[in-house]
Amino acid sequence: MSNPLTPASYAEIHLDALKHNLLQVRAQVGDCPILAVVKANAYGHGAVRISQFLEKCKAKVAMFGVAFLEEGIALRESGITTPILVLTGLPINQISHYISYDLRPVVYDLDTLAALNREALKSEKKVKIHLKVDTGMGRIGISPGAVLPFFEKALTFDMIAIEGILTHFAEADLQDLSFAQQQLSSIQEVVSRLEQKGMTPPFCHMANSAAILHFKPAHLNLVRPGLMLYGYSPLQGKTSIALKPVVQIKARVLALKKVSKGTPLSYGRTFTTNRESLIATIGIGYADGYPFSLSNCGKMIAKETLVPVVGRVCMDMTLLDVTETKGLSVGDYVTVLGAENGLSMWADTLAQYANTHPYEILCGIGERVQRQYLNG
Ligand SMILES: *Cc1c(COP(=O)(O)O)cnc(C)c1O
Repeated sequence: MSNPLTPASYAEIHLDALKHNLLQVRAQVGDCPILAVVKANAYGHGAVRISQFLEKCKAKVAMFGVAFLEEGIALRESGITTPILVLTGLPINQISHYISYDLRPVVYDLDTLAALNREALKSEKKVKIHLKVDTGMGRIGISPGAVLPFFEKALTFDMIAIEGILTHFAEADLQDLSFAQQQLSSIQEVVSRLEQKGMTPPFCHMANSAAILHFKPAHLNLVRPGLMLYGYSPLQGKTSIALKPVVQIKARVLALKKVSKGTPLSYGRTFTTNRESLIATIGIGYADGYPFSLSNCGKMIAKETLVPVVGRVCMDMTLLDVTETKGLSVGDYVTVLGAENGLSMWADTLAQYANTHPYEILCGIGERVQRQYLNG
């Protein structure tokens, strides 16, 4: 997209905060290798720039994790040379791309593995894969009981190397870690059976941000932080370590209007002023990831005031009641996400208002929100 001088909205991506958060991960996990999860455009922060920055950080990232092939190709095409694991598995017709772009697939069925082996024979390149085991998500992965036969079969494929075995937590964010413990025990049992047969792969991994933060036994020998790199904890307000939110979003005041008491505002007229009011129209809407569910309940920071969203959030615009705000002019920027003048509105708070979690707020940041990278 072009680079307007005064974008309707922009996101400041604070790379120094990202580095700080990576160091916090490092402090939690010691020497354990880190797979930085940069799927979904690095949780809305811009996968290419985030990965390029992380690749240069001294608190080393051993691997990147993306969800789909296209995301891995974009990283390779931007010059990323660190190993990349594609977390969701691969359709058979994409196999040749995994080989040519040197992407490691997560695999969970033998037919795919056989097809991968055939394609690898053609290109004479050995392929490293990670085997996904379902220990309680019910999503992707083979059952723990199927792991040993899978490994035995995999050994007959000359061009396949199983580099890792992984599983994923269903609820490691809870205070009550009993189900997480069951999942951990389940993978540990599998690994010890592999050990007995001398088939242990180099990596065994399952720790997301939640497990990194409060379930150390699950760090194993590779950890997969996502959310915490971007400055948020998945644990409900109980983290002792200090993470720094990486992204702040600002949006421009498009119009200011004095309206009389009794004026209906926005689609559906769900809000009617109960006094003479000053209403600001802001250049951000649900197409930019400002959730529609913040209609009549979101808040933004205008100058030195926290001001309410009034009426429904529109596709490209949102209305604020700025009656109490001093000195606001058309062309000024308000803070949609971030901190200003001692006030703050972070993604976890917005998520509460919108009845979602910070993941969805971050991943939802739209394409029109111009990313600006600072302090790299
Ligand atoms: C997204 C994802 C992660 C990262 O989870 P966070 O809660 O953001 O730390 C880790 N592992 C897998 C397989 C994922 O899909």
